[in-house]
Amino acid sequence: MFAEVLPTAAQQPRLVAFNDELAGVLGLDSAALRGSAVEYLSGNQLLPGAHPIAQAYAGHQFGSFNPGLGDGRALLLGEIVDPHGRRFDIGLKGSGRTPFSRGGDGRATIAPVLREYLMGEAMHALGIPTTRALAAVVTSDVVMRRRPEPGAILTRIASSHLRVGTFQYFAARQQSEQVARLIGYALARHGVVAGIDGDVDPSATPALQLLQSVVARQARLVAQWMAVGFVHGVMNTDNCTISGETIDYGPCAFVEPYDLNAVFSSIDESGRYAFGNQPGVAGWNMARLAEALLPQISDDSDRAVALATAAVETYRPEFERAYLSELRRKLGLVSQRDGDQALADDWLAMLGDHRVDLTQAWRLLSFVHSADGLDGDDTQVRGLFSEPSIADGWLSRYVQRCAMEPTPGRRAAMLATNPLFIARNEHVETALDAAVQGDYAPFERLLAVLSDPFTEQPGDADLATPSQPRFLQTFRTFCGT
Ligand code: AMP
Ligand code: MG
Repeated sequence: MFAEVLPTAAQQPRLVAFNDELAGVLGLDSAALRGSAVEYLSGNQLLPGAHPIAQAYAGHQFGSFNPGLGDGRALLLGEIVDPHGRRFDIGLKGSGRTPFSRGGDGRATIAPVLREYLMGEAMHALGIPTTRALAAVVTSDVVMRRRPEPGAILTRIASSHLRVGTFQYFAARQQSEQVARLIGYALARHGVVAGIDGDVDPSATPALQLLQSVVARQARLVAQWMAVGFVHGVMNTDNCTISGETIDYGPCAFVEPYDLNAVFSSIDESGRYAFGNQPGVAGWNMARLAEALLPQISDDSDRAVALATAAVETYRPEFERAYLSELRRKLGLVSQRDGDQALADDWLAMLGDHRVDLTQAWRLLSFVHSADGLDGDDTQVRGLFSEPSIADGWLSRYVQRCAMEPTPGRRAAMLATNPLFIARNEHVETALDAAVQGDYAPFERLLAVLSDPFTEQPGDADLATPSQPRFLQTFRTFCGT
């Protein structure tokens, strides 16, 4: 299931980012770590008793099955149990070749490493389940990409690194014993999540319980992505976790003008992973997990197919339910009423038709309500449209709906739900370009803002401004491989 591999020695490692807050969550002594950690965080030294491994996995990449992927530039150093008893993987990314590297060099470079760091922290601060960066180290190793670049290593913390592709690897080899062990391990590690119809059926086989749980987790995760405008960019089944955390920040980006067709990744030529395709793709990925688990679901293959199909079919309604609940919260609505779905759909359609910035629109909608819950100010949100009166019809429906449910703290609740700061593409690129030149100050400033995205930060208002249209026209993201 894995290969024991030692990290490749890193030349002159320097710690350029360290996540004190996450270290605190994990119960690590950051002060002690900061002093001597670079040797461990670069893989040059191992903690006593550590036996690093590279994990095997397979995956559907852009729809085609690749039976042999695996950790080609990552290693699992070990696990840590936090003071609340939660178990996390600690891994390195960019730590050198492994038996799964295929043609790759096993390395990572500074910009993609810092990008993953920023994006993961931004998502975490938005309340979205994600793997997170504990540290970023730069080395004096030269890594060849489009041009020679300094090497870098990310320390990644994850609830686990189990992926849909981990199950596919063994299922494709008909190693049912390994699949069964993985199922037991995943259930023990991640528990069972209640699906849309309440509890997971306790009489179901472990495989079916796992499938039901992962379906519910993925549906809720993608609903959260859609609510903030996150575009993952490479939703291959090897980048789809069992834990329900976002993983693998490669060519990801945030939509700025609301556009369901938005694609940023340079390699996603067909737009398979376009913003608006994500809910469907995650459902497709769940069908691939179901296939991998099929022989474990029931000995009777017809029955296995029927049960697996029923579990996969809960994905859509679970997603719709979770997404509507996100949208209600963003609208500042507490109760559930008929017509809420249409109200939310029409709002988003209006933003799409007029290419309005998603994050600004939600944020400024909050000010339609005043602090005391009486009449607020709709001029700001109206001002986002080329002709402010475009929004009037919808706004009057919205105000009527809110009046059915007067809520004094509505504005404050909306401001705590609709972020002021997201990782806007131009600001991210600017910060990373500076870091590549050796200036980490813009990265640190952006990181600080993204770590507290709901709070106005007067000196940093520029980081809330949308990317310039000219920038977005040509902006492309890369896997960093
Ligand atoms: P990704 O698209 O980043 O999810 O990676 C897909 C597969 O390619 C995984 O098996 C990675 O481990 C592998 N991979 C990506 N970049 C490299 C690299 N620089 N060296 C070795 N393997 C890599
Ligand atoms: Mg990956």
